[in-house]
Amino acid sequence: MRYQCTVLKNELLAPGVHLISFEKCFPFKAGQMVTIALSVNGPKRLYSIASGEPEAVMSVIFDIKPEGALTPPFALIKPGDTIFCSQPQGSFLGSEEPAFWIASGTGIAPFRSMFRTGLSSNKTLIHGGRFLYSFYFQDELIAMKHNYIRCCTQESGAGIFEGRLTRYLRETPLPVLGFKYYLCGSAEMVVDTRDLLISRSIPFENIISEIYF
Ligand SMILES: Cc1cc2nc3c(=O)[nH]c(=O)nc-3n(C[C@H](O)[C@H](O)[C@H](O)COP(=O)(O)OP(=O)(O)OC[C@H]3O[C@@H](n4cnc5c(N)ncnc54)[C@H](O)[C@@H]3O)c2cc1C
Repeated sequence: MRYQCTVLKNELLAPGVHLISFEKCFPFKAGQMVTIALSVNGPKRLYSIASGEPEAVMSVIFDIKPEGALTPPFALIKPGDTIFCSQPQGSFLGSEEPAFWIASGTGIAPFRSMFRTGLSSNKTLIHGGRFLYSFYFQDELIAMKHNYIRCCTQESGAGIFEGRLTRYLRETPLPVLGFKYYLCGSAEMVVDTRDLLISRSIPFENIISEIYF
């Protein structure tokens, strides 16, 4: 089943990174994704939903892949245009359990959805990015106070950990039991982080991964 949804907003969050908001055609669970196409027979790609369950509009975030089939034209979409959106899918679901939310780049999307759904009270969010502008939703996520950690590899700034998020994790005591570890983003980050968590005796069944391939 594909829904035709009207685009409401196209916001530039950072160079080459867009937040697209569109009319909500169906309910979903925080952490789920949809496939999006710009025409009936056009290429479709997967995107995590970045808005919260109770919100009246849906949104996704993406970075432009210059040689990509979908993201260059998607970046040009305007309010009033139509996109073709699948039903929500996926098992990377937010929960009330204590957890670490670990994201690289646009992998922050499902965690923003979980945050806006009201699931952040017993969570620690660790976001890795290259530049200070890579922390796309920091204005709202800063409400998580000391449980919101930004790891930046190319720039430094107040309250920012300098280096990769895997270095942050290596230098930080992590609870072995009683916490889930959600990982979302590039294959490199997810594989490196998963290996690191396993080496720290975190049970494999407590590690939940979503790779943006
Ligand atoms: C479960 C899941 C959830 C995802 N959620 C998100 C999300 O929330 N946000 C997000 O940004 N991404 C997400 N992705 C990734 C997303 O689905 C797309 O893969 C991504 O946006 C690129 O789409 P594209 O059509 O522009 O690039 P594609 O056409 O798929 O190209 C992929 C890569 O190949 C390169 N390439 C393609 N053709 C050529 C060529 N001829 N020469 C050289 N290089 C080439 C492109 O530059 C690009 O780097 C998710 C993926 C998965 C699996």
